[in-house]
Amino acid sequence: MVYPPFYNYFAYWIIIISCFHINYGYCKNYPSELLECVFQTTLNTTKEIPVLSYHQIRNLKPSDSKKNSTYILSIQYFKEHMQMLRDSGYHPILPDQYIEFVQNGKPIPPKPIVITFDDGTIGQYEHALPILEKFGFKAVFFIMTITLNKQGYLNNEQIKKIANKGNRIGCHTWDHHNVTKYENTDWKLQVEKPTQVLQEITGMPIKYFAYPYGEWNHLSIIKLKEYGFKCAFQLGGKMDTEEPLFTIKRILVDGSWSAKDLNNIIKKQLR
Ligand SMILES: [Zn+2]
Repeated sequence: MVYPPFYNYFAYWIIIISCFHINYGYCKNYPSELLECVFQTTLNTTKEIPVLSYHQIRNLKPSDSKKNSTYILSIQYFKEHMQMLRDSGYHPILPDQYIEFVQNGKPIPPKPIVITFDDGTIGQYEHALPILEKFGFKAVFFIMTITLNKQGYLNNEQIKKIANKGNRIGCHTWDHHNVTKYENTDWKLQVEKPTQVLQEITGMPIKYFAYPYGEWNHLSIIKLKEYGFKCAFQLGGKMDTEEPLFTIKRILVDGSWSAKDLNNIIKKQLR
C-alpha cells in the first residue's frame, strides 16, 4: 500500500522525536552517563582516524642490527605504502583538521589518516618527502633538537623547507628523554627551549608534541597545555578517555611491513 507523502513525513518525525527523547532522557537522568556519552562520541570519532608513525626511511645497511631494522623502512616499501593509501581511498589530514573534527565536528575527507615521522632522520627529507609530494600528501615531522644539523639528521634549512611545503613540524623534546621522568628544570630544557628553536627555524607556531617512547602521564599533559600545545601523540597505548587529544594513539609502522600488511593493520584498528 502506498501512503500519501504527509503520512510518510509524519512517520519519520515520530521516529526522530522518539530517538531524541530516549537519548536525552537517558543522559539527563544520569549525569555520569551523559559524560560517558560525550567521551564515547569523542573516542569513537578519533578511533576512526588511524595515525601512522614512521621513523627512518632508507634502505638497510649491513651494519643495521635486527632490532634497529624495526624502525627502518625501505624507500620502495614507503612508496608502496603511499600508493596503497591512495589506491584504498585514504586521505591524509593534518592534526589541525583532526582537532577541529573531534572538537567541533568540522567535516574532513572520507577515510582520513594522519602520517607522522619521529626523530628527524635525513631519509625523511631525502626519500620520504619527494614521495609524499608525488602523492600530494602532507605529514607531521617530530624533531628532537639535540640532533639538529648533525650527520644523518635534518638541518635547519631542510626543516624550514619541509614546513614551507605545507607539512607540520612538531616537538619531540631535546634529547628524547622520557617525559614521565622530568624534574622541574627538565621541562624548560626538554620542551620549552626546543619548541622555541623549532619556532625560530620555521617561523611558525609549534603546536604538536610526540612523547618519546610514547610514554606520558597526567602531569605531562598539564605541562604541555601550559606551553600551548594543542595535541600530543603517543604510540600504541590506550587513549585516555578524558584527554583523547593529548594521548592520540599511533600505529608504529614496522620496517618489515609490506603495503598489504599495513592495509590489514589499519583495517584491524578501524574494526
Ligand atoms: Zn622518538
